[in-house]
Amino acid sequence: MRVCVVGCGVVGSFLSLFLKERGVDVTAISRRRRYPRIGLIQSIMQKHPADIYAARRTRELYLEISRRYNIDDVLTYVRSYTVVRKEKEEHVDKLVEQWKKNGVSIEKLERDSLKEIPFKHYEDEIIYLCTNDTIVRIDKLIDKIWNIVNVKKHNVEIKGSIENVKIYVDGRELKKKFDKIVICCGSWTRSLLRKVGITLPLLPYKCQAGLFALSTRDSNYILYDYVNKTYVRPCGELSKLRIGREKLMVAGNGNTPPMEPEEKAEVEPWFADEIIPKLRRRFEKVRYLKGSAGFCDTTPDARPIIASFGSLIAVSGFDGYGAEIGPAVAEIACKVILDEPLNELERSFLVDRFGTGVEASSLPEVEAHEL
Ligand SMILES: Cc1cc2nc3c(=O)[nH]c(=O)nc-3n(C[C@H](O)[C@H](O)[C@H](O)COP(=O)(O)OP(=O)(O)OC[C@H]3O[C@@H](n4cnc5c(N)ncnc54)[C@H](O)[C@@H]3O)c2cc1C
Repeated sequence: MRVCVVGCGVVGSFLSLFLKERGVDVTAISRRRRYPRIGLIQSIMQKHPADIYAARRTRELYLEISRRYNIDDVLTYVRSYTVVRKEKEEHVDKLVEQWKKNGVSIEKLERDSLKEIPFKHYEDEIIYLCTNDTIVRIDKLIDKIWNIVNVKKHNVEIKGSIENVKIYVDGRELKKKFDKIVICCGSWTRSLLRKVGITLPLLPYKCQAGLFALSTRDSNYILYDYVNKTYVRPCGELSKLRIGREKLMVAGNGNTPPMEPEEKAEVEPWFADEIIPKLRRRFEKVRYLKGSAGFCDTTPDARPIIASFGSLIAVSGFDGYGAEIGPAVAEIACKVILDEPLNELERSFLVDRFGTGVEASSLPEVEAHEL
């Protein structure tokens, strides 16, 4: 079987690897590879049962692949705090039961242990402490996979029709014929597929984060702040540095309204003004140092899709959680390509859940991995 994978970010890289390991002749092409050296959050604390399953499987895959190909220090275990308003307590308690069954070490903090918490908190909040959340060095994994599958660095366009898809690499038609062509281009997937007349419920947008100096006792934790709709996380080696008495951490959630992706993502001028007041509710001192932005894509229910149109398959819509569940969804896409049966949870990633002809026009209220 011959498969062409277009776009080797998180999802396309893992998919190419799984196909190659199954003996498929894979041609993998992607424009660029750029992931932060501080890693991305990989948490099993998801809402949807299929996402919990996929996040757990993704963590296993990270460990298996790093062992198989000798990639050091891929996962760093870190504690995380989930902060919600009291009204959400019952809802989160139910999720906590599911998370515990899936290997998450998590407890609701009692009043007397709140003194130990390295950020400000308030009477009407409930705080959960997880002691085995992780940061994944996705950059290291993707670098290695690009070598193993020999990803070619080019721009791809697709033309023609669903029945007869033509692939153009840097403007020249690729003569090699494929049994399947898989598009895993993240925020570019929607515009690529439109060229062959396919409309999918995908919506691209810009996602922003920043490096901040914060007054916090230590900086080796993730804070999922669902009250202020932000997150704060460690920033690798930089976390050991100080600016005066402040520690460096990354904070984010400056999503823009839907917009077409550009090759270079600039941070919006309003980003710092929007996030600083939210951070001030947690930290006495907040200093914005530098922003960073990238493009993501989403769907009406904020969960990714696997969509098949004859020989053409799209795997996209990973929001801000592609490193949390992407490799497991790539494994499911591999089964779809090889025509293997899916279980019920795996089937929930198929685009069929939206019916036909559904388009996405606005961003979901919260992302699938957010409470
Ligand atoms: C600031 C920020 C912070 C984030 N933090 C986290 C986090 O902590 N945890 C987490 O899980 N997720 C996080 N995400 C989200 C995560 O990065 C995405 O969910 C993930 O990258 C989606 O994976 P993907 O493979 O679908 O797309 P991408 O990773 O975007 O990969 C798409 C690939 O396709 C290539 N491509 C596109 N068009 C073409 C073309 N025409 N020809 C050839 N190649 C093409 C691109 O160059 C790219 O390599 C964050 C995102 C941002 C922007």
